[in-house]
Amino acid sequence: MKTFVHQGQITKVVFGSGTRSRVPEEADALGCRRVLILCTPGQEDQAAEMRDLLGAAAVGTFAEAAPHTPVEVTRKAVTYAGSVEADCVLALGGGSTIGLGKAIAVRTGLPQLALPTTYAGSEMTPILGETEGRRKTTRRLPEALLNTVVYDVDLTLTFPAAASVVSGVNAMAHAVEALYAQDRDPVAVLMAGEALDSLARSLPAVARRPDDHEARTDALYGAWLAGTCLGTVGMALHHKVCHVLGGTFGLPHAETHTVVLPHVVAYNAPAAPEAMARITQALPAADAASGLFDFAGRLGAPRALRDLGMPEPGIEEAVELIVRDGYWNPRPVDRTAVRAFLTRAWAGETPWTPPDDEHPRTDSVTEPSDTTGARHA
Ligand code: NAD
Repeated sequence: MKTFVHQGQITKVVFGSGTRSRVPEEADALGCRRVLILCTPGQEDQAAEMRDLLGAAAVGTFAEAAPHTPVEVTRKAVTYAGSVEADCVLALGGGSTIGLGKAIAVRTGLPQLALPTTYAGSEMTPILGETEGRRKTTRRLPEALLNTVVYDVDLTLTFPAAASVVSGVNAMAHAVEALYAQDRDPVAVLMAGEALDSLARSLPAVARRPDDHEARTDALYGAWLAGTCLGTVGMALHHKVCHVLGGTFGLPHAETHTVVLPHVVAYNAPAAPEAMARITQALPAADAASGLFDFAGRLGAPRALRDLGMPEPGIEEAVELIVRDGYWNPRPVDRTAVRAFLTRAWAGETPWTPPDDEHPRTDSVTEPSDTTGARHA
C-alpha cells in the first residue's frame, strides 16, 4: 500500500463513562442554547435524564424515531424543531435515532450531537438512509456528518444481550469490509483490525453479563472504530447484500448483517488473503468465514435468513437486485455465486468458498473502478 488517500474525520469524539454530563458544555461549544433531544419511544427515560442535565437548554424531546428513517417522521420532527426554535439536535439512541438527527440536519442545517447507545456506527458516517413509502434510498452527504459524538458506556448497559451481540457483529462487518476496501488506507486498516480485536474480545463477555462495564467499554470502543471505517472507506458486497435484504424484505438490520457476514467472507476469501489473516488473528480462528460463523453461533445469534422472515422465493429477487448495480468487490460477483451463498444463508448452512472456476464470469457485474455504488449502511 504505497500510494493512498486518507480522509480524516471532522467529528469531535468524547469517550468514557459518565461522559453524558459533558453534553451541556459540548452543546455550548457549538454555540447551541436550544437543544432538541431525539429518541425512540423505548428510550424516553434516558432522554428525560438528559433533559434534566441540560436544564433550560433543553427545549423539547421528540420521541418518535423509527427504523429506516421514514420521511414522514422526519417532516414531523422538522416542524416540531421549528416550533420550539431548536438551534441543534441531540440524538440519544442507535442508528434509527441518529438517522433522524441526520435527516433533520440535512433539511435545516442545524448542528448535531449524539449519544450513541448501540454499536451500529452511524454516528461516524456521512451516510443518510431514508424511506419513503416502501423505498429506501441511501446517500453520502457531507452535511449529514455529526459535529460532536459523546460515547457514554453507561448508556449501553441497558442494551439487551441478544441485541448487543448482533449489533456488535454489525460493527465487525464494517471493519471486515474496510480491511479489503478498494480505497483502504493504512489508518483505516489499523482501525479495522483494532475494532475486530476489541469486539471479538468483548462481545462474549457482554453476552454473558450485559452489565460488565469493562466489556461494554471495549465493545463501544470497537464500535466507534468500526463506524469510523464505515464513514471513511467504501464498503463492498456484504453491505450491498444487507441493504437489499433489509430494503426489500424488511429484515432486521443487525441480525441480517450477522447472518450474511460469514457467507460473504467465505466468498471473498480467495481475493483478500491479508484481510482474512487479520480476521483470523482477531477471533482467533483457523479460518475467517467459519470462525465468524462459529463466533456468532456461540453467542446465540441467528444463523438463517429464513428465521428472520425472508421468504424462500425472495432469494431470486434478491439475486437480481444484488447484481443489478455495478460496484466494487475484491472478487467479481455474478448471479450464480450470489444465488449459491444466499441459498446457504437462507437455510442457515455453514459458509462455503466456491472455487474460482465454479462460476462463469459472463454475467459479472462488478466494476473495479467504482467504489461509490456500494456505500450502503
Ligand atoms: P436501532 O437504533 O433501531 O435500535 C434498536 C432498538 O434498540 C430501539 O428500539 C432502541 O430504542 C433500542 N435501544 C437502543 N439502544 C438501547 C439501549 N442502550 N438500551 C435499551 N434499548 C436500546 O438499531 P441500530 O441497529 O442501532 O440501528 C439500525 C438502523 O440504523 C438501520 O435503519 C440502519 O440502516 C441504520 N444505520 C445507518 C448507518 C449509517 O451510517 N447511516 C450505519 C449503521 C446503521
